[in-house]
Amino acid sequence: MDKESIRKVMKEKRGEMKSALQKALSQRICKRIACRPEYTKAVKVAFYYPWKGEVELLNLAIQALKEGKGVFFPKVAGEKLIFCPVKTLRELSPGYKGIPEPISSPVDQRGIDLFLVPGVAFDWEGYRLGMGGGFYDRALGTLKQYQVSIGVAYNFQLLESLPRNWWDRKVDVIVTESTIITPST
Ligand code: ADP
Ligand code: MG
Repeated sequence: MDKESIRKVMKEKRGEMKSALQKALSQRICKRIACRPEYTKAVKVAFYYPWKGEVELLNLAIQALKEGKGVFFPKVAGEKLIFCPVKTLRELSPGYKGIPEPISSPVDQRGIDLFLVPGVAFDWEGYRLGMGGGFYDRALGTLKQYQVSIGVAYNFQLLESLPRNWWDRKVDVIVTESTIITPST
């Protein structure tokens, strides 16, 4: 199947999930991320605002703020994602496609330790299918060796293999409610 067909099927599946199930699974996923060494070690973490049924990480972002971690959210700037700090989630307001984004100025992306990355699907090698904008491919393409990315998804979004193009980027770890994939190890 090509990317567009997989996107369609997976987005439909995600859209059919009951909100109570989504919340329950998201909570489990948050707990699993919170235990990961990549997360406990990270001082500055980039979150995302859940959109169209994506795993909800906002409670984890609130917890991270309480723990004194730096919390960042992406903002669309032309073809790029830029990452901006927030001190409270009230600082987010609707931007690109109505998705809440920060109003603050962006930081140098090299200062962020961990990127939590949403996806429509991920494969066993860590490749990712997004909504089709290529935004995270561009962002992950410039990460330094010391920076880590975690793909966040429900278990049904894991597929053995996804079609890939030269610009597609892998994540380092995938966390779902029942599986952890570390493709490089
Ligand atoms: P997604 O990753 O959101 O599923 P795709 O991988 O299909 O989306 O990419 C969407 C578009 O983004 C493609 O047309 C591709 O040309 C563009 N793109 C992605 N990454 C880059 C990049 N690093 N440089 C230039 N264009 C890119
Ligand atoms: Mg891509």
